[in-house]
Amino acid sequence: MDHFHYQDGVLCAESVPLARIAESVGTPFYCYSSATLSHHLAVFRQAFASIDHLICYSVKANSNLAVLNLLVEAGAGVDIVSGGELARAARVNCPPERIVFSGVGKSSAEIRAALYRGLLMFNVESRAELERINRIAGEMGKIAPVSLRINPDVDPKTHPYISTGLRKNKFGIPHAMALDVYQVANTMPHIEIVGLDCHIGSQLTQLDPFVDAVRRVRGLVELLIENGINIRYLDLGGGLGIPYREEEETPSPALYAEALLSELEGLNITLVLEPGRAIAGNAGVLVARVEYVKQGEEKQFIITDAGMNDLMRPALYEAYHTVIPVQLNDSAETSIADVVGPICESGDYFARDRMLPNMAEGDLLAVRSAGAYGFVMSSNYNSRPRPAEVMVRGDDFSVIRERETIESLMAGEQIF
Ligand SMILES: *Cc1c(COP(=O)(O)O)cnc(C)c1O
Repeated sequence: MDHFHYQDGVLCAESVPLARIAESVGTPFYCYSSATLSHHLAVFRQAFASIDHLICYSVKANSNLAVLNLLVEAGAGVDIVSGGELARAARVNCPPERIVFSGVGKSSAEIRAALYRGLLMFNVESRAELERINRIAGEMGKIAPVSLRINPDVDPKTHPYISTGLRKNKFGIPHAMALDVYQVANTMPHIEIVGLDCHIGSQLTQLDPFVDAVRRVRGLVELLIENGINIRYLDLGGGLGIPYREEEETPSPALYAEALLSELEGLNITLVLEPGRAIAGNAGVLVARVEYVKQGEEKQFIITDAGMNDLMRPALYEAYHTVIPVQLNDSAETSIADVVGPICESGDYFARDRMLPNMAEGDLLAVRSAGAYGFVMSSNYNSRPRPAEVMVRGDDFSVIRERETIESLMAGEQIF
């Protein structure tokens, strides 16, 4: 469910017409609905209410401070993957006991910063990382709380670039080596084992890979406990998919919770979850203005002022995004069109061969489901300033990140 709807033929975010925002901040811009973000978090928490749990929102999905602040104020923790995300979590006063630190390549500086500020746990992905954390914690006179990320070797049946739980992926410690590495960790003086973690991939639209993964790690948790290793937290990562098409059905957080909880009965742990996309994805749209409509030999090209540098999911994953006009026109004819950006790459598109109402120069359109892995993946490719980000609350809106300027594009550069 989201809060982007037509009112009298005009697309609104909650009660604010997107055209009004466009007039005020220009285009392109990302627009997030605070009510949708809050609702998605509430639904997730409700779904897991029957057991001890912590929802650690995956910051990499959308790391804007206003988004983080809203979620952390509502009680969420955060899952971070870099020192930069750690600093963002600190900026919104996320309590240390609600921070988990994931990622396969944590640098010494990042480990030090996290130990200095404090955190719930590092999700450790290799023996080498474990040794490094132990050494740094020792130098700092600290004990590092640690989970090991276990690769359960299950196929998440999603895009190969966002599959992470297969034997061939770089992520986690192989299931077969888990007990050994835990036993090594248990002897390290500056490591305290607190949990077990797994994350098998993103945009999962079926529940069975999650169920397969929990079954595989539950056995391991029991084995570890039998061996005297203290597993208090079971972190099952993120990955729940969202509908990118109107007609698409994805499992609700309630069904997801039901499937996981039935596999966890009788296990005395606190469950940690790291949803990113499921919280932020459908809470945002990218609004762009039509620059030109070009009639090709076979179809129309709707050329917008947003490009793949602003939203790269189609170029990167051939991802599907629903594109809709901001102003409905019931009498408009429809045509087959590609919605494309101005960038010199054939991968620079938002929609291909889509039946859309005819649009004209100056019209606004919205690319839906752009709240996760949208702005955070944007770049300055083609020397394009990145777009503004706006948040709506009820009938009010606020710019939560200013549009970059031509000046900011060249900041830090020097002629040699
Ligand atoms: C990316 C990521 C997530 C979030 O994934 P979503 O599909 O956005 O829910 C959670 N945990 C880890 C370790 C990740 O890398």
